Amino acid sequence: MQEQNYTALKMFQMSDEFFRSLNLTAMPEKFWKNSIIEKPNDREIVCHASAWDFYDGEDFRIKQCTTIDYEYFQTTHHEMGHIQYFLQYRDQPVIFRDGANPGFHEAVGDTIALSVSSPKHLRRVGLVSGDAEDEQTEINQLYKMGIDKIVFLPFAYTLDLFRYGVFRGETQPEDYNCHYWRLREALQGVEPPVNRTEEDFDAAAKYHVSADVEYARYYVSFIIQFQFHRALCQLAGEYVPEDLTKKLVDCDIYQSVAAGNALANMLKMGSSRPWPDAMEALTGQRAMRADGLLEYFRPLHDWLRAENQRTGEYIGWESSKIQYCTGEQRAALEADARDS
Ligand SMILES: [Zn+2]
Repeated sequence: MQEQNYTALKMFQMSDEFFRSLNLTAMPEKFWKNSIIEKPNDREIVCHASAWDFYDGEDFRIKQCTTIDYEYFQTTHHEMGHIQYFLQYRDQPVIFRDGANPGFHEAVGDTIALSVSSPKHLRRVGLVSGDAEDEQTEINQLYKMGIDKIVFLPFAYTLDLFRYGVFRGETQPEDYNCHYWRLREALQGVEPPVNRTEEDFDAAAKYHVSADVEYARYYVSFIIQFQFHRALCQLAGEYVPEDLTKKLVDCDIYQSVAAGNALANMLKMGSSRPWPDAMEALTGQRAMRADGLLEYFRPLHDWLRAENQRTGEYIGWESSKIQYCTGEQRAALEADARDS
């Protein structure tokens, strides 16, 4: 991207162009005028990327300190997804100008980014060279996506499980760091790199904890974005179940008006209907289901099972000598586990 002289503006224009190719709404003039897409150098701002609806039907903005790399290319699409949702439901009464549920709002841009990050689309825009995919490239692509999308799930779950323990009064302030890391180890299989104590408060290093933003929405988003992606890819004729030449991993819905119109029909509902109605409008399913995600990653899942068997890989993890709870805290946790 840097070799090709990408700028923040070019990244936003490419994202806008992708949405327009689906017959979705172009970013209005005010968006381009008022958004902050580069870090200002004359003042301090909160750089965490965000998208804003000013609820007047005209003023929508993104604030993002863009750096020119692939991660921010994804983030740009993520934030643009929020704006597209704002635009689609702007004719709803104010009370319904919201996502069908918070996870839907987070999933719109990510769903688009799944197409953008397909090998097919990256070749199309000249960010990847070479011919069609061989099996090894497909596994590498899925592995890269898995490190983003699969590894995230236990992280998102853990973060709000920790906070719910706090909100329910099951976790006291003097146990914050111990309980946080206990969950991180049990569910994510990660440990702090050095010993920790209650002098540390590591959960607060996560923006959404310090800023008090609920996090289950991202867990939901990472499941349903694959449900949305699968439905849109079928409408675009880019995914055909059991057809090995039309796999989900290499689906790009770019320029599919059929897919875009179906997405718009769901987004236009805002929060005026219960979320299963919105889900059904696009996918035909009324529940949140992991089958889209499982279908997307199936080639990698099959490969990993065979590879782990071949190498005799140990499945799971064990504790090292790193400490983050005192002996007293560990005893209390064990007593709790026995009681419940
Ligand atoms: Zn977001």
